[in-house]
Amino acid sequence: MPGFEIFGEEERKEVQDVLDTGVLFRYGFDAARKGRWKARDFENELAVRLGTAHCHLCASGTAALHVALAACGIGAGDEVILPPFTFVATFEAILTAGAVPVFAEIDETLGLDPAMLENYLTPRTKAVIVVHMCGAMARIDEIATFCQAKGLMLIEDTCQSVGASFRGKALGTFGHMGCFSFDPVKTITCGEGGAVVTDDDRLYTLAHAYADHGHDHIGNDRGAESHPIIGYNYRISELNAAVGLAQLRKLDAILTTQRTHKAALKEAMAKFPRIGFRQLPDAQGDSATFLTFMLPDEKSARQAARDLNAGGADGCFYYYDNNWHYLRNWHHLKQMKSPARLPAQLCDPCPDYSRVTLPRSDAIIARTVAMQIKLGWRQTDVAQRIAAIQKVLSR
Ligand SMILES: *Cc1c(COP(=O)(O)O)cnc(C)c1O
Repeated sequence: MPGFEIFGEEERKEVQDVLDTGVLFRYGFDAARKGRWKARDFENELAVRLGTAHCHLCASGTAALHVALAACGIGAGDEVILPPFTFVATFEAILTAGAVPVFAEIDETLGLDPAMLENYLTPRTKAVIVVHMCGAMARIDEIATFCQAKGLMLIEDTCQSVGASFRGKALGTFGHMGCFSFDPVKTITCGEGGAVVTDDDRLYTLAHAYADHGHDHIGNDRGAESHPIIGYNYRISELNAAVGLAQLRKLDAILTTQRTHKAALKEAMAKFPRIGFRQLPDAQGDSATFLTFMLPDEKSARQAARDLNAGGADGCFYYYDNNWHYLRNWHHLKQMKSPARLPAQLCDPCPDYSRVTLPRSDAIIARTVAMQIKLGWRQTDVAQRIAAIQKVLSR
């Protein structure tokens, strides 16, 4: 998964290009920058790669989510449906936007269950954030159809799944806006960075303005300093964009490596009848950053993760016990531990996340283990890993 494993001359060259000009700012300084526009090039290349009209880089994936919410008109008191299996950033962005996260059940794709969404609608529901976890897709076509029928905005948190697709269409391009992360441990990295993508000209205009204090970016050096809207600073620097640009050009090679490694490991694991796999609505579109599998129950899943990590197949995540990716251990959210009062707390009733119960999601995540696929593995590493898997699972 992590692009940092394959840093090379390409990243160094792009960074050096920027340092040579001294222009770390992504806008303006036209004469000094000698035609070098790393953020702009990255945006253009990512938009082409994903088949979308517009892309705007941000300071992080979390920033991208906030920008997308703002551009989509999600604010004070609006309810946003999201899954309980995601990185904390998804609910943070909703709360920061002034809106109210509403957690809905997932299915065995590890993403929102489209059949359950109806249960969470209220007159205040404005949007759904679907999260494509661990490199592959939720049931995005059905979720998009639902949102269309109900008149809801749809944002895709594709932070973990750049390069993945559903029936040939890139994840992140099904909703009104898609969000990506290029943080230090993601598939491709900028050091820190993120992106929003959209086909909608109006949303794009709002997004790039919002991410830069509301500037309109018309004409030279951010235009005539006109502010069509109130914004914020979520800009990326040219240095970060330069690293990401080199990484983006390696994406297809990364996907090929991941898919090869994953196929070999999955084949070995599939020989054990008690192992099941995460459902993939389109297996061909999987970016293969993780091999995600299920055991019959919570006890055996926790044990398998522990034994695999200790027994030569490390990099196995048991999300039910971690406090980054699943609601169960988000104690800070359950206690609304914020340094300052959140807009959501002004709502009546005030949301109480300590009382949210999602038995189906619990039952799925409690049985799920995800093994990270590394880019640096050689064939011998994969063979050793397969031997370790066989040894541990045969016990
Ligand atoms: C990494 C991640 C984010 C946030 O991205 P940052 O760039 O780290 O801010 C958001 N959502 C998911 C699902 C992620 O994995």
